[in-house]
Amino acid sequence: DELVSQIAAGEVVERPASVVRELVDNALDAGASQVTVRLQAGGVRLISVEDDGAGIAREELPLALKRHATSKIGSLADLESVGTMGFRGEALAAIASVSDLGVVSRAHGQPAAWLLDASSGELRPAARATGTTVEVKELFFSTPARRKFLKTDATEFAHCLEAVRRHALARPDVGFAVWHDGRLSEQWRAGSAEQRLADVLGEDFLAQSVAVEYSAGPLRVRGRAGIPDAARARADWQYAYVNGRCVRDKVLTHAARSAYEDLLHGHRQPVYVLHVEIDPARVDVNVHPTKIEVRFRDSREVHQAVRHAVEYALAAPRS
Ligand code: ADP
Ligand code: MG
Repeated sequence: DELVSQIAAGEVVERPASVVRELVDNALDAGASQVTVRLQAGGVRLISVEDDGAGIAREELPLALKRHATSKIGSLADLESVGTMGFRGEALAAIASVSDLGVVSRAHGQPAAWLLDASSGELRPAARATGTTVEVKELFFSTPARRKFLKTDATEFAHCLEAVRRHALARPDVGFAVWHDGRLSEQWRAGSAEQRLADVLGEDFLAQSVAVEYSAGPLRVRGRAGIPDAARARADWQYAYVNGRCVRDKVLTHAARSAYEDLLHGHRQPVYVLHVEIDPARVDVNVHPTKIEVRFRDSREVHQAVRHAVEYALAAPRS
């Protein structure tokens, strides 16, 4: 069973950044308004994610670490309209199987906090305000083969930071802080969407991009598209979200890219942040354990909307 869960973990946990993504997902699902990520040695030695969300009640703590235990959907039918980041109930269990994991949580309205040590199963009183901290130490210590594939601390840290950046772009209403080896690396305060774009991608991007705002029936596309002449070409600055979830999707990438077709000369990459809002019943988010892929029921409709959205934005007179 240990082996089975470690193999399953491989699908969810590839590197420290995968852990960061899952833990921040959980913090946001819990309604956090502030998320603090602390890393040591690129996340290999320590990943700690602290939130001020709803917390986990004492009697539910052991359940949170069980495989396929989720508090977020009650039935298969709920998958049709899943509104949370998580729903598979496998992240914490998977992470716990390849690390030394501990959870400290105080549920809203409860007088005390509790700490659960995943490896020993020990539950003991702790002290903290309402919310949850998940600490993941010595990732892959029991799976040296996987540990060998990790890059330098600096590279792993860059991936972790990128994972937080993706969340931060989707949730300007939430404050984020990232620490690495005891130093504050990034701090993004809660504020407007524009402020968050400037904080995360730089004032330059905000100045050298146009607003995207487009609807096609119930489908909505909004965000910001960089003006190619001016925008810095960054191969990794294409951010696409579907109902708030950051995804890598060929349909979206291709649609955005084709809107830029005549504007991009040579091999330059467009820079954009696009949020697609679509009826949850028209998109399947349960395609892959990492939930980074989605499948649209009608991908032509989505392609067209995104392409038009970006084309209109780029063609509009600039103010
Ligand atoms: P999922 O997010 O798919 O439900 P996870 O394994 O990520 O599965 O988490 C399992 C459960 O633990 C969640 O359903 C939730 O009830 C609880 N949980 C995990 N992290 C937090 C958190 N930061 N705050 C509150 N509850 C949490
Ligand atoms: Mg989760």
